[in-house]
Amino acid sequence: MNPDTRRSQIEENLNAVEQRIVAACDAAGRSREEITLVAVTKSFPWTDVRHLVDLGIRDVGENRDQEAAPKVAECERAGVSDVRWHFVGQLQTNKARSVSGYAHLVHSVDRARLVRALATAAAARPLRCLIQVDLASERRDVRAPGSPAPPRGGVPPAAVGDLAADIDAAENLLLDGVMAVAPLGGDASSAFAKLAVVARELRASYPDAVIVSAGMSGDLEVAVSHGATHLRVGTALLGSRPLLR
Ligand SMILES: *Cc1c(COP(=O)(O)O)cnc(C)c1O
Repeated sequence: MNPDTRRSQIEENLNAVEQRIVAACDAAGRSREEITLVAVTKSFPWTDVRHLVDLGIRDVGENRDQEAAPKVAECERAGVSDVRWHFVGQLQTNKARSVSGYAHLVHSVDRARLVRALATAAAARPLRCLIQVDLASERRDVRAPGSPAPPRGGVPPAAVGDLAADIDAAENLLLDGVMAVAPLGGDASSAFAKLAVVARELRASYPDAVIVSAGMSGDLEVAVSHGATHLRVGTALLGSRPLLR
């Protein structure tokens, strides 16, 4: 596609997403400044990151290191440097070093082993982390034993305290808050309400953990109404992704 055409397409999408965010903030009695829009660029080329940055986006999200690391490098080579990279996908411990090299914020910390890997990888630099909360864990408990776990990741709400203590104990990791994905086929409103409770309880012990990363293209209004501070939006900005990825 002609770069100018692609850019105007993204600009139009961005304007529409902005209008949705502003309307959701109005409805919730919140200020737009409380919300950070993270543009999720997975499966799209680095040139889309450049368009987004040209249009004023600074926060960009990726969910696989195999794709993110070369994209970050391409952006840097091309001088697209004013980007804060957010890692939002399930993270294997053997990718911790690579991700800690470029991530401004890791949204998907969900087990003690990963905390240890990130703490080792981050070396001296403080790496900011969110605890990914699994909001479907109760529903999963009632499923037939042996049925596969959904691939979305996260710790059950009851395990957040222990993981928070692990992150807090690591000198070079900063505990910034929580992240969740609404359960597939579930009720986003009750899920994000539950996340708000988890976030509030976490802040009672860790007052700096103020980030609530929730809401995607389909449910960003619901997330804003339940206190989200970070929205992770892909499809509504960049279009639908190829099915196989
Ligand atoms: C892909 C992805 C998003 C963006 O989803 P859209 O529905 O395309 O907006 C948000 N969060 C995570 C963790 C993702 O993997």
